Amino acid sequence: MAEELVPVLSRSEIADTVKSLAQRISKDYSGKDLCVIGVLNGVFVFLADLVRELTVSVRVDFIRLASYDSGNVSSGNIRATKEIELDIKDRDVLVIEDIVDSGLTVDFLLRYLEQFQPKSVKVCAFIDKTERREVEVPVDYVGHVVEEGFLVGYGLDYDQRYRELPEIYHLKP
Ligand code: 5GP
Ligand code: MG
Repeated sequence: MAEELVPVLSRSEIADTVKSLAQRISKDYSGKDLCVIGVLNGVFVFLADLVRELTVSVRVDFIRLASYDSGNVSSGNIRATKEIELDIKDRDVLVIEDIVDSGLTVDFLLRYLEQFQPKSVKVCAFIDKTERREVEVPVDYVGHVVEEGFLVGYGLDYDQRYRELPEIYHLKP
């Protein structure tokens, strides 16, 4: 059976959200030494858009994580398969995520980053998906709250497809 893509966020809604997030972040980090750390792969489109709207200068790095279980539901058995390379000691760090779902990834990241003794760590997620939250995690900058459903587009994949779509869709099986 064919998958159905139901539109959730248009290009212009996404662009407006990115601008307002960038304004808040630029204001909060003005005069600071900001490092943004994107969580691969899904974040590559959002991060590219976001940093180009910032009015503060930043350093950019990425981390890639893998969970020991496959599938869409995070298991909590998370490890870094690509470590950060930037020196974040005594620097202000902003973790950039495409979606926070169960919260397990962000929970892992906050503990992982602590070992490098950053000055501060905050979290920015383009989408905060609330329905399946398992761990309470702080998400300091939220683009959109979406209750439920599986989203694709704007970097988000299903089986490595749909990342290139400029809009966000609900994928209906
Ligand atoms: P968490 O650990 O918060 O459950 O997982 C977050 C990660 O799961 C996201 O970074 C993303 O890779 C993946 N994920 C969660 N919900 C969705 C979704 O609706 N669509 C896609 N494509 N990935 C999702
Ligand atoms: Mg992700």
